[in-house]
Formats: sequence, C-alpha cells, structure tokens
Amino acid sequence: MQAADVAAPRRKTRQIKVGSVLVGGDAPISVQSMTITKTADVEGTLQQIYALAAAGADIVRCTCNEQEAAEGLAQIVPRSPVPIIADIHHQYRMALAALEAGVHGLRLNPGNIRNPEHIKAVAREAGDRGVPIRIGVNAGSLDQRLYDKYGGATPEAMLESAQIELAYFEEVGFEDVKISVKASNVALMIQAYRLLAEHTDHPLHLGVTEAGPPPTGLIKATAGIATLLAEGIGDTIRYSLTADPVEEARAGRQLLEAMGLRERKTIDLIACPSCGRAEIDVIDVAQRAQAAFGEREIPLQVAVMGCVVNGPGEARDADIGIAAGRKKGHLFVKGQNVAVVPESAMVEALVEWAEFIVEHGVEAALSKADLVAAKAAADADRAALLDEQGLDANRAGERVELIRKTVGGG
Ligand code: SF4
Repeated sequence: MQAADVAAPRRKTRQIKVGSVLVGGDAPISVQSMTITKTADVEGTLQQIYALAAAGADIVRCTCNEQEAAEGLAQIVPRSPVPIIADIHHQYRMALAALEAGVHGLRLNPGNIRNPEHIKAVAREAGDRGVPIRIGVNAGSLDQRLYDKYGGATPEAMLESAQIELAYFEEVGFEDVKISVKASNVALMIQAYRLLAEHTDHPLHLGVTEAGPPPTGLIKATAGIATLLAEGIGDTIRYSLTADPVEEARAGRQLLEAMGLRERKTIDLIACPSCGRAEIDVIDVAQRAQAAFGEREIPLQVAVMGCVVNGPGEARDADIGIAAGRKKGHLFVKGQNVAVVPESAMVEALVEWAEFIVEHGVEAALSKADLVAAKAAADADRAALLDEQGLDANRAGERVELIRKTVGGG
C-alpha cells in the first residue's frame, strides 16, 4: 500500500487562487498559519512571516483590525515570500482597506459582519480585484439568530451561516470562495465539515479553532483535520495553537507529509522507544538530532536506535540511521553498516552523511563506505553486547521467575 492510499479519493472542488497558491481542485493541500504580531509592526510581522514560510506555511494570515494594520499590510504584501490574507472581524471597511493594501485574500466572519449591503460591497470590490474570500464560520461567534433557531452551534446552524453568506456573494456574482466551519469541539467540527462537504463544491479550509496549547492542542487539531483529510475532505489547513505560530506551520506541514499528501521537505525522524538494551539516552540523542536537522531541506527518513543489536535491522527501511553500541555509533544506510564513529559524534555524523546522500544519492554513500569494516565492527559489538546482556536484555525471564515465586508463595 502506498502512503498516499491512506486518504480516500479527494473530494472534487472548484479551484481558487490565493496569490500564487492554488487552493482546491487537484492543487496540493496547502498549509496556513497566522501572525501574532501587531500588523502595524511591519518589520516584526515580516520576520514572523518569513519564519512561518520556512517552517512550511504556504499562505499566511494577518489581522486587519485598524487603519494602521491596513497601512502595514500595504508594506508587508510586496515583501512577503508567501500570499497574505487579511483577517477581518466586525468592520467591513477594514476589508476594503485591506483590498486597497493589495492583499491576496480576505477572511470574513459571517457572525461578525451581518449587514448584507456591507457584505456585498466587499464581495463586489474583491471580485473587481480578483481576490478570493474565505467565509470563516466559527461555532463560538455564530450569528445569534442562527444560534437561537437551532438551539446552539450545531453543524446545521454553521452550514446555514455559510450558505447565507454565500447567497449574498452570489447576488453580486462573486464565487471566488473557500469556506471553513471551525469549532473547538473536535466532534462538532468534524460533523460540520462533513455536512458542508455534502452541500458545496467550494474548497474547504480545515481547522479546529482555539485548540489550545500543545500537546493537547496538537492532538485535538490533528484528530479533527486528519480525520477529514482521510475522508478526502479539505483543501487547505490550519493548526490553531496557543503557541509560537511557527509550531502551527510545522505541524500542518508535518501532518500532510506524514499522510503522504505532500512531498517530504524535511526529515522524518524515527527512533526506537528504547529498552533494557539501549546503550545511549535515546530521547536525548533523538532530540539533538531533530534540532540539528531543524527545518533543513533534507527529505530523508532518519533513524536513531538505542542499540546495534536490533537497531539497524529494525530500521532497515530508513534512508539513514545510527545505532549505539559499546561507546560507538554505528551508522547505517538502508540497513547496511557504513561507518563507526565515537558516541559523542553520532549526531554530527548523521547530519554529515544525510547531507551527502541528499547531494550524491544512496548508491554513492554506499560505495564511499568501507562496508566490510563497518559490518565487522557492528557484528563484533553486537556479539559482545549479546554476550553481556544475553537474549533477554530486559530480564523478563528473571522477573517471571520472581512473579511465580511471589504468587506461588502467597
Ligand atoms: Fe532500541 Fe535496541 Fe531496545 Fe530495539 S532493542 S528498542 S533498537 S534499544
């Protein structure tokens, strides 16, 4: 089974264009994030936008809540490495100002701007400029009338909120739309998107709103977004975390890569869970390796394994890995031992060999290695460790004996 098979066939949606990024149709699912700086702080906001783009954001949203923010956008947009969307709440004039600033997209919350004439004025202006709008329904700020009609923020109420907004847009011939129906409750969010997907072919922007700080926020957002993506629903995603937004962008990118929905850009670090055989602190080495690779464009699967007894075999599908054994690091490429380095140099060696593979390929890495010597060293350490630890490194046999004695003795 191919990794991409994890998701059902993607739902067919219309395609829109947010600046240079296509959303919907057969375009790759894009990652969005949002700045948390004051938009009027042009340099600070641009710095964050660059960091978000480096971490995997394809599109970035900035709030446009006051005139100074709109003026900031006018300077940010031409210098941004990715398309910019202006987030609008309450004041439709801010939407018009953001369009004047040259933004690539708008997000309107139908719960906050309710005057039909204002909504249509924005849609007309966006249409003239070829700028798409996201109808961003949010369970927490649903129009009170819908809340009362449905007795709460139900999936049906959220769908109707989006449909009312869409109808205003259609009145002025504006169809350049994507839609979101976010909620902080994962089950509600999933149901709302499923219902929405049955009623529209506009592209959908997925998110669990106010998911909270990691790790809980990451888990909630992943549960909602991944469930829908696996059903073929969703064209663009955002993790809403109470954290540095770089974490949002990184998480979004990593989720898509893990599901085989985007090409891998950075490493996929795998590591053994560690056990009685571990010759190193696996958690520490794995964290140091993750930090050393960071956001670098090294699209390899990299393994950190606690022992040379089982490590190279268990991680034989990894592009490159390292296993510890008797104060040494045994490097392996596609399961074949290629080099032995001091334990203290394991992470540096891993990065160096990974860089070599990216530049020259696996075959070149294997042919530059002294495979015979590396294998002999690994075999010798493996045998020595087996001698010391035996086959039962976790002393399970000993423990079973003790349990039997305890229970028998009772
Ligand atoms: Fe890690 Fe070795 Fe234990 Fe497997 S046997 S979990 S590779 S330490």
